[in-house]
Amino acid sequence: MVINFGAGPAKLPEEVLIEVQRDLLNHGQSGISVMEMSHRSKEYADIHSKALQAVRDILNVPDNYKVLFMQGGGTGIFSAICMNLMKTGTADYCVTGTWSTLAAKEAAKYGKVNMVFPKPEKFTTIPDQSSWKLDPNASYVYYCDNETVNGVEFPFIPDTKGVPLVVDMSSNMLSRPFDITKFGLIFGGAQKNIGPAGITVVIVREDLIGNAMPTTPTILDFKVTCANNSLYNTPPTFIIYVMGLVFEWIKRKGGLDAMHENAITKSKLIYQSIKNSNGFYTCPVDVRYRSRMNVPFRAGSASGDESVESEFLKGAEKLGMVQLKGHRSVGGIRASLYNAVSVEDAIVLANYMNEFYNSHK
Ligand code: PMP
Repeated sequence: MVINFGAGPAKLPEEVLIEVQRDLLNHGQSGISVMEMSHRSKEYADIHSKALQAVRDILNVPDNYKVLFMQGGGTGIFSAICMNLMKTGTADYCVTGTWSTLAAKEAAKYGKVNMVFPKPEKFTTIPDQSSWKLDPNASYVYYCDNETVNGVEFPFIPDTKGVPLVVDMSSNMLSRPFDITKFGLIFGGAQKNIGPAGITVVIVREDLIGNAMPTTPTILDFKVTCANNSLYNTPPTFIIYVMGLVFEWIKRKGGLDAMHENAITKSKLIYQSIKNSNGFYTCPVDVRYRSRMNVPFRAGSASGDESVESEFLKGAEKLGMVQLKGHRSVGGIRASLYNAVSVEDAIVLANYMNEFYNSHK
């Protein structure tokens, strides 16, 4: 048995993979694979519209918001946001980790970036909202709800005093319910909680569509994507099909409330093992902002002992726990606990952490 704790592309529900395998050569009664179908065919149209509708159902998306499937990854959307929304030539960026840093860097190509708070030296916390400096002239306020590399997650939705709020939910979308109406735009790459890599789900408020800069590439123009029901050009049809199966799986498992409850249980187990280790394991993140999705930690000493960590990772692999190595920029260990990772999986890891600590103290 292998348990995949990878940060993305990440574990998919086994039930979904079995379904994909079953129908791989013959989808429905078509005699062909979804991979081989025209994106203009009736069979595919059904898969496509069901997947778009499932996003609306699961997230309770109000009518004045559009759901788009776009390509170019989360990184492509960093640029698309600027090109479509930066009407005033300036935007606010909250930088709390690796991914919001990259988004702000991209935005600086298109206009003025106002850093809402000074960029922290280490990404371990979220500065108190009372210290934020929002620009009333900003076209939007941008933040990353869950920093995948650093393990920093927002437990609150920022108050932007009416300026459209834009959020990167690439690594925690569909892991908890939230109020869509607080946002102007929400986006998330598929490869963590949603499906295989290759699509980004964008949910955008209607009135923010239609202002793209004239130089915006057609495929990054929200208006074009929306007008063509995310079928302007050939979409990654197979990815959208698998995503649709993941959406059905989420519904069967109890929706976002169930995903959230599981995420809390799983992450608590790992944080508890860290807490109970007398400093053998350390997580640098402020306890108030610790992620339910990605738990980065060091082993052996507060700054990490690479030989101990390497032994930890080898031992974990022997027991079938894979992709636990920390991001190359921060080192150490990272346990990613997306929707498809079960509570039982997290228990196996927590038990291993406890045993490893006991044999090294
Ligand atoms: N935002 C976050 C929070 C991410 O974790 C990632 C990728 N892991 C990205 C954006 C970039 O996504 P992509 O690699 O699809 O461009």
